[in-house]
Amino acid sequence: MLTQRLRPLMQLISLLTATVLLLWAFPLTVTAAAVIPTPHWGSWETKTITYHYAGSSTYYRKVWQNAARQWNRTGTVRLKTAKTARQAHVVVRVTTKQAGYTGLTHSRYHAQKPVHKIVGAKASLNHKVLAKHRYTQKQRANVAAHEFGHVLGLGHSKCKKSVMHATNRYAVVNGQDRLAIKRAYRKRQ
Ligand SMILES: [Zn+2]
Repeated sequence: MLTQRLRPLMQLISLLTATVLLLWAFPLTVTAAAVIPTPHWGSWETKTITYHYAGSSTYYRKVWQNAARQWNRTGTVRLKTAKTARQAHVVVRVTTKQAGYTGLTHSRYHAQKPVHKIVGAKASLNHKVLAKHRYTQKQRANVAAHEFGHVLGLGHSKCKKSVMHATNRYAVVNGQDRLAIKRAYRKRQ
């Protein structure tokens, strides 16, 4: 008789997050609001995460580099480039889709407590929408930084000045994001 042992509770789950287009500008005055911590749903087992840019555009290579640098400056994680997709934890690219999103991240993780263990991710920028709405190179880097935030395990922030706000165009990695990433990786090596 064949007996099957229960496998550990390691379920591989896929998660898809899209960054929607921001068509309006921020109001000039921002009222002081209580800071709601940015949620995180998972983290990588390591704080050094490698990414590979699967594309040939020097322009977009720089966009992803700028985005990685924003997170590296937090001092908590290190996003390092890898020569091939095979060697990388994360693959980033640029697509041209009609759909109304500017960026998209697809993550795979093992369900774990207290935080899920992320094991793979793919992030993309949508050139068609970014070009149509005249995002500057800097603003495209901010969208890429937002996608990297998802790649690292962060959810959306309610704070418009956070790079993790759902409709991000102008915001860079800020103090709130630094705290969020620190919290998400406090138990990681
Ligand atoms: Zn998002």
